[in-house]
Order: sequence, then C-alpha cells, then structure tokens
Amino acid sequence: MNKQNDTRNEFSAEDEAQMLHSIDRWLERDVRPHVKKFDHADDYPHEIVEQMRELGLFGSTIGREYGGLGLRVETYAQIITRIAEVWMSLTGVINSHLIMSAIVERFGTNEQKQHFLPRFATGELRGALSLTEPDAGTDLQGIRTHANRIDGDYIVNGSKMWTTNGVHGSCFAVLVKTNPNAHPAHKGMAMILAEKGPGFEVCGQLRKLGYKSIDTAELSFQDYRVSADRLIGGEEGQGFQQAVGGLELGRINVAARGVGIANAALKDSVAYSQVRKTFGKPICQHQAIQIKLADMATRYEAARLLTEQAARIYDSGERCDLEAGMAKLHASEAALANAEDAMRIHGAYGYSTEYDIERYFRDAPLLCIGEGTNEIQRLIISRQLIARNPT
Ligand SMILES: Cc1cc2nc3c(=O)[nH]c(=O)nc-3n(C[C@H](O)[C@H](O)[C@H](O)COP(=O)(O)OP(=O)(O)OC[C@H]3O[C@@H](n4cnc5c(N)ncnc54)[C@H](O)[C@@H]3O)c2cc1C
Repeated sequence: MNKQNDTRNEFSAEDEAQMLHSIDRWLERDVRPHVKKFDHADDYPHEIVEQMRELGLFGSTIGREYGGLGLRVETYAQIITRIAEVWMSLTGVINSHLIMSAIVERFGTNEQKQHFLPRFATGELRGALSLTEPDAGTDLQGIRTHANRIDGDYIVNGSKMWTTNGVHGSCFAVLVKTNPNAHPAHKGMAMILAEKGPGFEVCGQLRKLGYKSIDTAELSFQDYRVSADRLIGGEEGQGFQQAVGGLELGRINVAARGVGIANAALKDSVAYSQVRKTFGKPICQHQAIQIKLADMATRYEAARLLTEQAARIYDSGERCDLEAGMAKLHASEAALANAEDAMRIHGAYGYSTEYDIERYFRDAPLLCIGEGTNEIQRLIISRQLIARNPT
C-alpha cells in the first residue's frame, strides 16, 4: 500500500550518512544553542524553520520527481530522532506536513500531485493534517465539519482543534463529512486540501504544557468555498481511509521522536550520574541509580529497534499498522519513563529550567496522545494480531 517510487532507492549508504552528518552539524551549530531561549519564551523559531526549508526537510519523504528528497522512511526516522534529541518541537513543523504530502502522493489525483507536491517539497506551501475537532478526536467518524457540494465547489462549515502549524501554515488536509447521514459514517467522509482564504480563519493559538514554540491552533470554516478538484483523490467516501493510511507515517514519526527523547534523557543521566557525588562517591555507583540507568538504556534500545523495523516495513510497501503501532506505543512510553527517571536522577537540577530534563518531561506526554492515543494503539495492535493469525 505504501509502495515507494523507485527514486527512493537512488541514495547510496554514503549519501545517507552524509545527510545525517549534515543534520547533526546543523543541530549542534544552529539549533542547540538557541533551544532554551525559544522554548521558554514559547516563541516561533522562524530562522530555524527557514534553515529546515533550506535543508530540504519539508520534502524529506516526497518523491524526487516532485522535487522532494525522496528519502526512505528509515532514513527520515533517523533524522526525526536526531532532531528530537535536541528539540522535539521542531519535528512537529514537518511531521504533519509530510503526512499531508504522503496522503496526496498516495491518494491524490495526478493534477493534485503536480500542483501541490512541488510546493509542499520546497515549503512554499506548508501545513498539516486537520482531523481533530472540539468534540471528536479518537472517534474521527464523529466529526461535524461539513462540505456541501454546490456546482463545481464545496462550501465548508465547521471547526477544527489542535491543528499543528495552524498559525504559520498555509494549506491543510481537512477531514470533512460530505454526507453526514451516511452509514457507516466513514462512507460519507472526504479530505479537502484547504488553502487559507476568505471563510477560513485561525481562531486562536492553543497554550500547551510542552511542545512549545510550535503553533497549535483552532481553525474555523464559515462558508469557505473551495474548488471540487481539491477533494483528495476526486472521490467522496475515501477521507477516513486516507487519514488512517497517512497516520502510519505519523506514528513512525512519533516513535522516532520518542527514541530521541528517550536517548537524550539517558545520555544526560549517564553523564550527570558520573559527576554528581553523594556519600563520597558518584551517584552512578549506587545500585538504585544503576538500576534506573539499565532500565532507561533497555527501553531506548527496544524503542529504536521497533521504530527501525516499522520504518523498514513501511519502505517495503507492506502494511505496517501493527509494527508502527507497537513502535509508537513503546517509544512514547519509553520517552515518558526515561524523562521521569532522568528527573529523579538529576534531583533538584532535573526540576530546574537550567537543564533540559524539565523539557523532556513536558514534551514526552504528547507522544502518548498524538497520532492516536496509546490506548488506541493497543487496540490496533491486538486487532491486527488477530487478523494476521486466524485460527
Ligand atoms: C499538541 C497537540 C498537537 C496536535 N496536533 C494535531 C494535528 O496537527 N492534527 C489533528 O488532527 N490533531 C492533532 N492533535 C489532536 C490529537 O490527535 C488528539 O488529541 C488525539 O487524537 C486524541 O483525541 P482527544 O484528545 O479528543 O481524546 P479523546 O478521543 O476524547 O479520548 C480521551 C481518552 O479516552 C480514551 N479513549 C477514547 N476512545 C477509546 C476507546 N474506544 N477505547 C479505549 N479508550 C478510549 C483515549 O485513549 C483517551 O485516553 C494534537 C493534539 C495535541 C495535544
């Protein structure tokens, strides 16, 4: 289902290593020194986002024939992990944007691919997937945003919550109902590519515990008119499947972020535990601390391996909801648990804004909620287990 085009195989292992090296250099030189300032002020990092555009990250997984980098998802996941190790917020700028792009590349009409993908790849048009509503998150079939067909246009009315990139983005894949009476409900759903314009308003930026600096917004559509050829795939009734299909990539992204935070918390703790002394010796020589470090390292390694596996299967074109679900579930819980253990190991300094631990602790919980909560991941995993192993 995810069959990638051939251009994705053109990168040699050397090219990929070089790319990862460039990302590491950029993160150390241009990002790490500024993270605390932006994160604590909750300011949008315009300059850093521009650098992400120059690095081609807005087109990371978009095919080369559309001007993207055409990276394998396995490589993309490693990039996301590296970025999350330094500042998770930045991964949000490209995650949902690339899910929207993947949906267009996979399900869009030829005209939609030609029109949108080159603009998505350069970052000229940036955005996200806009599914969630004030009264519907997990239960997507309960959305109320409605698109009514009138001649060659759709008229959209409704509101969306928690749309990442809502303020600074310009184009969104919006899940709507074209037939609110359809049964089952998903048969009356579609996705529309909505660019900002009359009738499409950003109502407000949402304040959050963590994931600072990156805009998360409430969007409102009031008689927003959009040409019918912006309906992804050109056929009503496909929106729910398109959204769910796109979330496989999103779950690998969230898993990769979890790997990044789990590793950052581990590395900081390994370093700190060797310099902080109590009772005449470094705290890493106390068994209670050693047990925490061992658990943290094991969680991180398992998360990394599960994420690599999910990305490899995604790249192979096979269905990977089971593997992406397991990677997302384990890696997000690993990030949360490691952030907490790191705070305990750092004692009061973990609670201080001078260290990065408090940020990991604020950022990690989002990973257990976004791209399908971890409760729902468990349902997806077990349903797939049963489907793949019929008696
Ligand atoms: C910072 C941030 C950024 C986000 N960005 C985006 C975005 O760009 N685009 C977008 O569309 N959305 C976005 N979201 C929304 C996110 O995807 C939803 O929050 C998520 O899907 C959960 O929906 P909900 O919050 O409405 O929880 P609810 O659906 O109300 O769930 C509440 C609780 O009930 C549980 N639950 C629900 N149904 C079941 C069930 N059947 N069985 C067991 N437990 C169940 C859930 O697991 C959860 O614990 C974002 C959210 C945040 C916090």
